Amino acid sequence: MTTLPAKLQAVLARIACAARRWGRDPADVLLLAVSKTWPAECLREAAAAGQRAFGESYLQEGIDKVAELRAMGLEWHFIGTLQANKTRPVAETFDWVHSLDRLRVAERLSAQRPLSLPSLSVCLQVNVSGEASKGGVSPAEAPALAHAVARLPKLRLRGLMAIPAPSDDFVEQRRPFRRLRELSEQLRADGLVLDTLSMGMSQDLEAAIAEGSTLVRVGTAIFGERHTA
Ligand SMILES: *Cc1c(COP(=O)(O)O)cnc(C)c1O
Repeated sequence: MTTLPAKLQAVLARIACAARRWGRDPADVLLLAVSKTWPAECLREAAAAGQRAFGESYLQEGIDKVAELRAMGLEWHFIGTLQANKTRPVAETFDWVHSLDRLRVAERLSAQRPLSLPSLSVCLQVNVSGEASKGGVSPAEAPALAHAVARLPKLRLRGLMAIPAPSDDFVEQRRPFRRLRELSEQLRADGLVLDTLSMGMSQDLEAAIAEGSTLVRVGTAIFGERHTA
């Protein structure tokens, strides 16, 4: 059995190796530990090994863990599907949202973000593979949404996020990530200040880093196979 701290170190080594291979500074790629379905004990173990940023997909589960681990001063990212009628607990609980794809949801998050907290960091989820079943704004609609979100007072637009269709082939894996990077470059040329490309998971983080990822969202490679949804 490989221990959780050893798996975490192995993921950090993969990130560092990929970054160097593509001429990048490993410090420019943040590891988000995707802890959905794993109990707070596992997060505690990862935190004890130095991990600070955690990603949750299921709202109630995430809120419970934030409450339980509040004293540890961790950073919390919501990466799951966002329902318009569930924005308030997200705005009140999390530091980041990666799955923003509609202006109505963005407006609610901004209005519901407590004034006592810093602006909520957000990424627009972009459907770069064009899969009808997947969430995310289309690449064609992303610029208008990005400019509208950037104007909201209690949101801070950080960048773009994508969950491409899985592939075993490195060249195939790079293609949607490149598309997301090019879209980000286009938005920056339009004057938006973006510092985040949230792309890459357990199976494809090297390809994402090759294409400029600044934040990889890794679950299985740190915590193991998930047995529930
Ligand atoms: C579950 C999930 C991940 C992590 O996937 P792994 O393959 O377990 O690394 C990353 N991003 C999102 C949005 C997820 O829902």
